[in-house]
Amino acid sequence: MDALARIDWQDRAARLRFPHQALIDGKPVPAASGKTFATVSPRDGKVLAEVAACDREDVDRAVAAARRTFEQGVWRDRHPRERKAVLLRLAELVMENADELALLETLDMGKPIRDSRSIDIPLSARCISYYAEAIDKVYDQVGPTGPNAISMILREPLGVIGAVVPWNFPLMMAVWKVAPALATGNSMVLKPAEQSPLTAIRLGELALEAGVPPGVLNVVPGMGETAGQAIGRHMDVDMLAFTGSTEVGKYFLRYAGESNMKRVALECGGKSPHIVMPDAHDLDTAAQNAAGGIFFNQGEVCNAGSRLLVHESIKDEFLERVIHYGRQWAPADPLDPATRMGAMVDTRQMERVLAYIEKGKAEGAELKAGGQRLHAETGGCYIAPTVFDKVRNDMTIAREEIFGPVLSTLTFKDTDEAFRIANDTIYGLAAAIWTKDVSVAMRAARALKAGSVWINCFDASDITAPFGGFKQSGFGRDKSLHALEKYTDLKTVWIEF
Ligand code: NAP
Ligand code: MG
Repeated sequence: MDALARIDWQDRAARLRFPHQALIDGKPVPAASGKTFATVSPRDGKVLAEVAACDREDVDRAVAAARRTFEQGVWRDRHPRERKAVLLRLAELVMENADELALLETLDMGKPIRDSRSIDIPLSARCISYYAEAIDKVYDQVGPTGPNAISMILREPLGVIGAVVPWNFPLMMAVWKVAPALATGNSMVLKPAEQSPLTAIRLGELALEAGVPPGVLNVVPGMGETAGQAIGRHMDVDMLAFTGSTEVGKYFLRYAGESNMKRVALECGGKSPHIVMPDAHDLDTAAQNAAGGIFFNQGEVCNAGSRLLVHESIKDEFLERVIHYGRQWAPADPLDPATRMGAMVDTRQMERVLAYIEKGKAEGAELKAGGQRLHAETGGCYIAPTVFDKVRNDMTIAREEIFGPVLSTLTFKDTDEAFRIANDTIYGLAAAIWTKDVSVAMRAARALKAGSVWINCFDASDITAPFGGFKQSGFGRDKSLHALEKYTDLKTVWIEF
């Protein structure tokens, strides 16, 4: 933190250049229509830049560039060692420009600079270097055959990949798609969220600087309904990688079905249960994690532990501790390196979260902490860390993804009831349990229907661990070598002799 504290972020912010054009075929360009949209900082409500508002025509040009580069083989046919070198250089460039990228991210979407500088940007670089390193270490297969044949099972890149990503971890969610898709030789069209387009455009510029050939990675900022839909329905996009809400994820399934049956991978929403058993080794650590699990990144986290399930015998005491630790997450200026919680991404999201809080009260949950907007005088979008007690699993605040700093606390009597409540949701992204009892832990690992199950920790992971959902949290996995499967397809070559 010391290194961060030494930097005058306000001063740097004042001198920042905001990338604002689309990046198509290696060139920064305005939208064909000439239209722009304002990207606003939720830190203070000020407009940062007018960004090219791409639409179908721009997407067509971007897809054409991606298709051309793919068919010409300028990237896909490069020796794996060369693609590796380029992507390793990109990872280096991300770190060389880490302060700038962190500032763009923080100003654009409101997260604390300490997180963008020490989490989002370094983890994005690590993700790129991980897939770069994988390129020349992953082998194809030879199938079992009789003596007069060889069957080779080859993995081939799909072609043109469309990636549509959200605003909560703008660069990182983009890189989770871009790194494995480029590593496997595909060309791409990336659409960042309208609330946070800046780092994706900068990533495109850095990719060019690193040596990714022009047209291989195209970035088309714009609205979901226009640019996003145009990518989803495009007849020449082979695969669509999406991170975002379950609602929009379902649109992409429809777009694919109504167009060219492109493959679709969906990382969608969550309502993750965070279970605390009375025998947890260390209830204090569990309480810190329960607070961090919902207040980190303003609660704008797909796997946030938004449903806290506490054994009835320890609930009151445990909740006191969670509220105590929640105070450490009081929102403040995201440019201050001491700040742990910044601003909600925009006014709309802030209003949405406040409406959920009202709904929680109206449905009879007990508000124990927070519940209101803060620092309105700054023009920014800040919400106090909010804790509800006496939540039932059929209440709206237990069922719907709030995507804000709002914790819903429920109780249970025994493990069976805990697992039943935990699984009583349309989502299945993540779940956690704190217990000393290894058999309860292992039963939970099996019983909880979620893509990630954390035992005696929360949100623990690294790039080697697959991440993604069960049920309506989506399908397909980001991270790990498994992500490479999404961007490739199997080809069997059967040779007889
Ligand atoms: P969102 O509203 O679903 O938007 C995600 C992306 O889809 C944005 O780029 C958006 O563009 C685009 N989009 C919106 N409407 C569209 C449409 N009709 N057709 C095509 N594209 C469209 O999600 P968000 O609010 O940005 O992000 C929050 C959601 O992401 C939460 O549900 C969260 O759980 C989920 N998430 C999941 C993961 C995971 O790994 N599972 C990770 C992070 C976030 P515009 O913004 O420009 O409209
Ligand atoms: Mg913004």
